[in-house]
Amino acid sequence: MLFNESGEIKQASLESYPADSYQELKEEARQCERCHLRQGCRQVVMGEGDTGRRIMFVGEGPGADEDRQGRPFVGRAGRLLDKILSAVNIKREKVYISNIVKCRPPDNRTPTRDEMKACSPILSAEINLIEPKVIVPLGSTPLKFLVDDNLSITESRGNWFNKGELYFLPTFHPAYLLRNSNMKKFVWQDFKLIKKSLDRIDEIYA
Ligand code: SF4
Repeated sequence: MLFNESGEIKQASLESYPADSYQELKEEARQCERCHLRQGCRQVVMGEGDTGRRIMFVGEGPGADEDRQGRPFVGRAGRLLDKILSAVNIKREKVYISNIVKCRPPDNRTPTRDEMKACSPILSAEINLIEPKVIVPLGSTPLKFLVDDNLSITESRGNWFNKGELYFLPTFHPAYLLRNSNMKKFVWQDFKLIKKSLDRIDEIYA
């Protein structure tokens, strides 16, 4: 897991990327070869979006479209995420969207614990620079990695978890929704909550 109970990023995960600016982090991350996933992909896919809005969406890892285009959430699942965001009146470019691992795992398999651990300094640095108040884990893998290994996404979605001053609101990954459209109603509820918290964040940090 990335955080301790106080919501602080574990120290080991902060050592490799002491970036002072987001631009610097992006450039450094693009050169990363810390794990073997880099050999099987075209490019490192960094997170993107508004780094000043204090909310982050975190998925699992890039897929084929993301690997080709070098941007997160641009395939079918990404387009669905855009639609859901737009349905609750959130502009995609006005939130920050990233993944646990930045290189595409072969055949879109779930990244291993070691791969996630190897990549965590980049996510830690993103979190450190963005200082989110709310993180939305998209699906089971980021839920377990960011919040608690023992949680199930089905039981946890739509519920708030907090560590220190950091809040998590997990929901289903849009790729899961493409296969299980009957779950969309739950995600709709979750995104209404996300929108509410984003409005509150905007009020506080305006
Ligand atoms: S997955 Fe992360 S740690 Fe591994 S090479 Fe890519 S950027 Fe580096």
